[in-house]
Amino acid sequence: MQIQQTIQGFNFDKNSTFEKDIDPKQRAWIEVSGKALESNVRQLRSKLSKSCQFMAVVKADGYGHDAKVVAEYAIKGGASQLGVATLKEGIKLRSSGIKKPILILGNLYTKRDLIISFKNDLMPTISSLRECLICNNIGNHFGLRFPLHLKVDTGMSRLGFEYNKFVQQFEKIKSFENISIEGIYSHLSSADDKNSSEAKSSSQLQRKKFEELLNQINIDRNHNIKIHLANSAGMLLNKDFHFHMVRVGLSMYGYSPISTIHKNLSLNPALFLKVKVAFIRIIDKGVSVSYGGKFVSSRKTKLAVLSIGYADGVPRKLSGKINVMHNSKLYPQVGSITMDQMMVDITGSNDIKIGSTMLLLGSDGDKTISPVDWARESNTIPWEIICSFKNRLPRVQVD
Ligand SMILES: *Cc1c(COP(=O)(O)O)cnc(C)c1O
Repeated sequence: MQIQQTIQGFNFDKNSTFEKDIDPKQRAWIEVSGKALESNVRQLRSKLSKSCQFMAVVKADGYGHDAKVVAEYAIKGGASQLGVATLKEGIKLRSSGIKKPILILGNLYTKRDLIISFKNDLMPTISSLRECLICNNIGNHFGLRFPLHLKVDTGMSRLGFEYNKFVQQFEKIKSFENISIEGIYSHLSSADDKNSSEAKSSSQLQRKKFEELLNQINIDRNHNIKIHLANSAGMLLNKDFHFHMVRVGLSMYGYSPISTIHKNLSLNPALFLKVKVAFIRIIDKGVSVSYGGKFVSSRKTKLAVLSIGYADGVPRKLSGKINVMHNSKLYPQVGSITMDQMMVDITGSNDIKIGSTMLLLGSDGDKTISPVDWARESNTIPWEIICSFKNRLPRVQVD
């Protein structure tokens, strides 16, 4: 009887693999809260002056949240520009109907890539005269101006014009008639430093260098050229860093880039990592669990086997160091995290069954497990945790 009912839901096309019939919440998945994103952007924007724009940084598929969803809700919250890392990320946003200005934060250095960028209405970041000239030629070919942002290096030694040569090179750039300089920016190297006085002093030094340069090139500050410097941490450091626009990633997703708590700021995590209990077993005292037998039960133990592992992006380094939540209660993960599964000690619980959902990251009631906690335990940064989740985890938008 029951089997028949279940079967009735299927389309019995004999060529079908029924792949589409698999529930995205069948194994392990990421829930993305659009509302959390929107309210985070709104809150962060309230810290900016009215004229200061908010660029939502949605590189790496929106820090693993799904760039399209993040872009939509960030725009609802008041973001007026978007930042991506690659040409493909930019094109994907354009094809999903996003109309706001998009800046590519990575470096495009071939004529081919720059043409593709131009044709998709994406602004490249320009770090040298060579690429600037290519853009000018492309603009000239189409009889238009190629919109772009210039970047200067003030201490990161990554992309950007060489600091000491920029003023002289800018003279030349000013004569290019087929480019349109939409922005001039730089990037902070240490605004999120654990040592907050170090973060402040090194960031202030970069800010001063940046301002000196802007004074020297003597651009009309009221002109349309957007000046920008701050990432999340820089934005939260001080208003001095805001200029015409801030480029915000991490804090928009709900996490503070610095350990100091910000007054009047309550960010909500937008990511919920959830997993199904695939199996439950009871082991005696003295029984080893998982590869290498690194965990041995000290009592009769009830174990839940969860369908998620390091191939989904949960760092193996976290083996035995994290808790998993169910109905606001925490249960310790035990034994080595394996490629596709991990075990949790659920001794004493009676509400966890095969098919129950457990929470690895996110909030439930007044408890939260944050990527910041995982980062601390695995000696990395929260940015790396959230952008490591693989495509094997479906992204499900929840509100
Ligand atoms: C990634 C990135 C940002 C955003 O940084 P967060 O610390 O996540 O806010 C800003 N600017 C540039 C150039 C970036 O590459």
